[in-house]
Amino acid sequence: MADSVRRKLRILFASAEAVPFCKTGGLGDVAGSLPRALKHAGAKVAVILPKYGSIPGEYQEQMKHVADFYVPLAWRSVYCGIEKLTFRGLDFYFVDNEAYFKRDGLYGYFDDGERFAFFSKAICEAISKVPELECDVLHCNDWQTAMAPVFLREFYNQIPVCQNVKTIFTVHNVKFQGQFSDKVLNDILGLADVPAARDQLYCAPQAINYMKGALLYSDVITTVSPSYANELQMPFYGEGMDSIFRRRAGSLHGILNGIDTTDWNPKTDPTIPQNYSVEDLSGKAEDKRALQEEFGLDQDPTRPLAVMVGRLTKQKGLDLVRYSMNALMSRGVQVAVLGTGDKDYEDSFKYFDWKYGNQMAARIAFDSALSHRMYAGADLFLMPSEFEPCGLSQMIAMRYGTLPVVRETGGLRDSVQPYNQFTGEGTGFSFSNMNADEMAECLLNACEVFWTNKDAWHQLQVQAMSEDFSWRRAANEYMDIYHDLHPEVTRYNKRRDI
Ligand code: ADP
Repeated sequence: MADSVRRKLRILFASAEAVPFCKTGGLGDVAGSLPRALKHAGAKVAVILPKYGSIPGEYQEQMKHVADFYVPLAWRSVYCGIEKLTFRGLDFYFVDNEAYFKRDGLYGYFDDGERFAFFSKAICEAISKVPELECDVLHCNDWQTAMAPVFLREFYNQIPVCQNVKTIFTVHNVKFQGQFSDKVLNDILGLADVPAARDQLYCAPQAINYMKGALLYSDVITTVSPSYANELQMPFYGEGMDSIFRRRAGSLHGILNGIDTTDWNPKTDPTIPQNYSVEDLSGKAEDKRALQEEFGLDQDPTRPLAVMVGRLTKQKGLDLVRYSMNALMSRGVQVAVLGTGDKDYEDSFKYFDWKYGNQMAARIAFDSALSHRMYAGADLFLMPSEFEPCGLSQMIAMRYGTLPVVRETGGLRDSVQPYNQFTGEGTGFSFSNMNADEMAECLLNACEVFWTNKDAWHQLQVQAMSEDFSWRRAANEYMDIYHDLHPEVTRYNKRRDI
């Protein structure tokens, strides 16, 4: 082993999206927050992402050109610019190629396989050519960066600055794997003559799977909650990759995501009618009244108000909610839903809104400000997901003293401690099976506590609001993994309590 050195570990965090530049989902939130927390935890961090045409002009104007070179992509030699922007103290590098990235959206194009193979190869080229991007650990995320660990090992292993780079791959959602026709192997990846790579990238007779490449080539695999790390090893959740997750179980870690506790803080949130805190929850009553008014619901403090905020897709367990709606309405529960997604679900919730005007409301929209008012004004947050790699909404709800009602899966199981009526412990309510009656019973049990035991309810709110969902905890766990990969670099700054 090399002599030990005391310096900051250099992490290059590769992602296809990062807040505030570009976001389609949770990955954007993670890439916008985790690198900053890693920096606080003592690492030297840079983030690398594509320079999309849709990045707001105010950011594009501030970018500085730091390098350009040509990236070999099978028979092509493709231009690549590297632009840099330091945003709130963190260095972001943007991979520039207008033919690939100057488009309205991020994904969903006919040539996504080529665009993100280019991005992954450009990351490796940048490590080898741009001194400020040299790193100890390349941390890749989801299929869009999944080919980088493969390229790094197969094409860059002879280059001194690349030889000691360790790779981590984080699975944010195994449903999206980046599968393409096997024509890409020769035509884009240039790996047709590399037997090891060829064999490991096939997932079906004529299909190449980028994520499979990363799962087999990366030094460490992580995912966004401990329970999802277990579930990925089961056929029901593994989306065809479960045998690989089982094979690599020794290198697979589940680390629960955090939330931005500055943005999500009922004490200071400027978008809610009344601020409140764990010490004094009294303002929450006015937030509830205002929300009931806004939704046209009866302004009755004794009615439990359960809300949902999220994508209206099958993953979120909406069939259970649809099935139980009449029963919940007959018991006097108020329900409000904010979301967009599959038309079938949107129509169902619009129908319930029409049918139960003063007891149920649906807003088919993406409305961040309204979501804040809902987290603050509700009593309960309903999230009966079929699967949930991590889930942020339940953590946000707890931070606002809104008790989650969740199915015990993935990150929901790891972040919500179910109420124990004998000890008073807990931060929410949970049920285990994908069964509408079980969900309704769980929600109505929660309402029973709300109606009959104010002290227990208040205690649950205090416990939920006191949970630590900051990124600091996750960052420390990632730092442990990075340092295990580079034992020769002793900790520069082990700050456990930032
Ligand atoms: P997923 O990443 O599966 O969509 P998460 O719970 O991890 O689900 O994150 C969803 C995030 O997006 C939460 O912050 C939630 O408040 C927000 N969100 C989802 N849908 C909407 C909407 N229609 N309006 C406002 N915010 C939304």
